[in-house]
Amino acid sequence: MSRLALLGGTPVRTQPLPSWPKWDDQERRELLAVLDSGNWWRLAGTKVRAFEAAFAAHHSAPGCWAVTNGTHGLELALLAAGIGPGDEVVVPAFTFISTATAVMRVGAVPIAADVDPGTFCLTPASAQRALSPRTKAIIPVHMAGQMCDMDQFHSLAKSHDVHLIEDAAHAPGATWAGKSVGTTSKAAVFSFQQMKVLTAGEGGAVIAHDSDMLERLFLYHNVGRPAADRRYQHLVPGSNYRMSEWQAAVLLGQLSRLNDQTALREAHASALDRALREVPGIRPQSRHPKALTHTHYMYMFYYDSEAFGGVSRSGFIQALNAEGFPAYPAYPVIYNTELFASVAHRQPGKCPNAEGIANEVVWIHHRFLLGDEADALSLIPAIEKIREGAEDLVTKAKGAASA
Ligand SMILES: *Cc1c(COP(=O)(O)O)cnc(C)c1O
Repeated sequence: MSRLALLGGTPVRTQPLPSWPKWDDQERRELLAVLDSGNWWRLAGTKVRAFEAAFAAHHSAPGCWAVTNGTHGLELALLAAGIGPGDEVVVPAFTFISTATAVMRVGAVPIAADVDPGTFCLTPASAQRALSPRTKAIIPVHMAGQMCDMDQFHSLAKSHDVHLIEDAAHAPGATWAGKSVGTTSKAAVFSFQQMKVLTAGEGGAVIAHDSDMLERLFLYHNVGRPAADRRYQHLVPGSNYRMSEWQAAVLLGQLSRLNDQTALREAHASALDRALREVPGIRPQSRHPKALTHTHYMYMFYYDSEAFGGVSRSGFIQALNAEGFPAYPAYPVIYNTELFASVAHRQPGKCPNAEGIANEVVWIHHRFLLGDEADALSLIPAIEKIREGAEDLVTKAKGAASA
């Protein structure tokens, strides 16, 4: 048996996994073009505009506004949809906190609803149970890049007269039943933070299909000012959510690689899904057959500590990190954060599926799917090595606890 890297042995990955982010001369050229143009903000430059046009076209949407980041994109979409104090917005209990804090920042109340235990996506049925006469919107989160059931969400939103705002932070280019992300909602919001599948370090975008919404999004993101304004016209209480030309220069290069990278991640994630069926104690995120394009921002799986001699999830993650894999624990359930303990909210009931995921799921950053198939599948010997070394890990944890 080989010694665990965490305990001083040689890691499974003697060669590092692919790095992230990726760039080449295209980004370098675009950045220098911005520099030499002297136009570094969107209202004078051309790069943000070019990126918005390309990103909208990528999603068959009539319009897109690039913004400072995904969190601001969610706030902006909520503001432009007219959501504010006195309103409730249904969000998944299992998501990154921004989905909920954006709702709070516009003065509305986030209501957590449960997700599917297989796909980790908000379900229309649990969202429906969380509705009240105050509900103005639902924010489905396309978890890890797998889209929620947007057909059912569309019918639910229509019959209850609420808006859908998609949190597509993980999901640029994702599709549901042949339709692009963003097609059946008031707006879809993306994040270009460093870890995401499309990145400029920071950044975000909002796409929308109705022209009135697109106009309101522009106003709110531009301190209430129409595009052609020359006399300090401020029509709505907006803020400055504008993206800089630098970010767009990088994103133009990033976008040109997105389809190829998504195809690689799809191929390697499905090879891994198949291989992991034979591995006891590990159960990957399941795939809905209508979620045709999954962008795999994260590769997620349940970890059953009993199948690993009682090694805790955090012990497993530490050991996997030492073997060379960028693994992390799943997000906490939003209502279990310190934030939720300190602010007024209505919680109609516990969300057992979200709690199970928060407690048991491990995710690995998508960069490990961007090499060849053997890189992705090298996760399996790493997992088996940890199983074999479980006793040593438990002894080490006990020693640390009694020291
Ligand atoms: C990353 C993320 C956000 C926020 O995006 P930022 O660009 O980091 O502000 C929102 N929702 C989800 C689900 C995310 O993962």
